[in-house]
Amino acid sequence: MKTNKEKIAIIGGGISGIATSVYLIEKGYKVDIYESKKNLGGRAGSINKDEKSIDIGQHIFLPSYKNFIEILEKLSSTKYLSIGKKLKIVVQENSKKYHLKSKVSIYPLNLIFSVLSYKNLKFYERLKIIFALYKLSKLDNHKSKISLESWLKKNNQNNEMIKKFWEIICIPAFNSKLNKIPINHAINLFKTMIFNYKKNIGICFFKKPFSEILSENYRNYIKKNNSNLFLGEKIVNIHYSKKKYLLEGKNQNLKYDKVILATNISNAINLGGLNSKKIKLSTNGIINIYFWFDKKVIDEDFISFSNSKLEWIFSDNKFRSKNKEFRIVISLSAAGNLIKLSNEKLISDYEKTLRKELNISQKTKTIKSLLIRSPKATQTQTGYNDLNQKNKKMYYVGDWTIKDLPNTMETAVLSSKKLVEKYFK
Ligand SMILES: Cc1cc2nc3c(=O)[nH]c(=O)nc-3n(C[C@H](O)[C@H](O)[C@H](O)COP(=O)(O)OP(=O)(O)OC[C@H]3O[C@@H](n4cnc5c(N)ncnc54)[C@H](O)[C@@H]3O)c2cc1C
Repeated sequence: MKTNKEKIAIIGGGISGIATSVYLIEKGYKVDIYESKKNLGGRAGSINKDEKSIDIGQHIFLPSYKNFIEILEKLSSTKYLSIGKKLKIVVQENSKKYHLKSKVSIYPLNLIFSVLSYKNLKFYERLKIIFALYKLSKLDNHKSKISLESWLKKNNQNNEMIKKFWEIICIPAFNSKLNKIPINHAINLFKTMIFNYKKNIGICFFKKPFSEILSENYRNYIKKNNSNLFLGEKIVNIHYSKKKYLLEGKNQNLKYDKVILATNISNAINLGGLNSKKIKLSTNGIINIYFWFDKKVIDEDFISFSNSKLEWIFSDNKFRSKNKEFRIVISLSAAGNLIKLSNEKLISDYEKTLRKELNISQKTKTIKSLLIRSPKATQTQTGYNDLNQKNKKMYYVGDWTIKDLPNTMETAVLSSKKLVEKYFK
């Protein structure tokens, strides 16, 4: 492999920082990667509680997250991924379970049969959903700036169809209510994740905390490639002089030829000299509430809910060898309004709802609970169209840098791939 002499620093050890380092190393660069927290993963990372790692938020993905999965393959970290081979979603409403699933694995029949099997809607409503999906797959960039909700209404989707199908899929995917999702974003997401993929899709998730899946393999990868990882090292300032960037950190003060900011938007503004007046920032929150019970409360890995405030719940029953505690996490997307409520209120309200919806008897005890707020789980900016430019030596990556796709782990990796392909020889 050719070696490249330029010294490069990556600030941020989230998915985009990690992916950028892999792509650069493959091109023969040595990199130094700085992460302010003690563990990797950023918004897909974890916190430590009772000496155990717990994901900041439940993350799901699809087999069509090709770039994301490829990075994990390169880091030999796919062992703990649960890859859904077939579409199979249980939707619960008023204690009754309905299924979005297909025995057929060939695209687009898998999609058609899944929707046809979904008895939570009337037959003619299911047909109308299939027709709307077909129309969406044929749309190129839409000229008007209407929302996904308006588009659905214009295309014969009634409130029941919106609530029981579109909201279940789209609110978590975009972390946004349907009236706030631009139709072009919806077209792009459905195309990249489903229509252009043209294969079978099922829900995928991690079998253990993402930062644990990554950490050792990534450390080894960095070491093997003569690069450096600095954890717990927050960069507070960047100075430019004599064609070099000096990074000011807690322990390190090193000079680089090029710097890649793989941080959130606010830190990119503070460190990277983006004009804050030019940027219109919008963020949305996600809340995850964990409950540990002394008995198993669901058999499924996940259930989504319609007509309930629970939205989606996930269990980790299957991946524990010695089960004494049975964990359920409630994942609440587009949670801007809930973020203002106290932990006590949210935990108590959602525990009551969970017990009612799942019919959990009083004999089943709640061992403990934990609420994790991510007020800026997703972030978008308008203002800068071309953040990265050829003649510059400071670059930006991250899910927020790709404007027409929602913030996902795949978008984060895609931003890294595009940057390295375009600006690094
Ligand atoms: C609760 C929650 C649930 C989610 N669910 C899903 C899901 O189901 N599926 C999905 O695809 N996506 C999901 N996402 C979104 C996904 O996590 C993000 O799109 C992705 O992780 C973004 O990666 P990133 O590298 O672009 O940014 P980040 O993860 O934000 O990484 C930026 C990193 O930079 C570090 N940093 C910032 N400033 C500095 C500094 N000055 N010095 C050093 N380091 C610094 C930060 O600590 C952080 O680690 C979810 C996000 C959250 C919060």
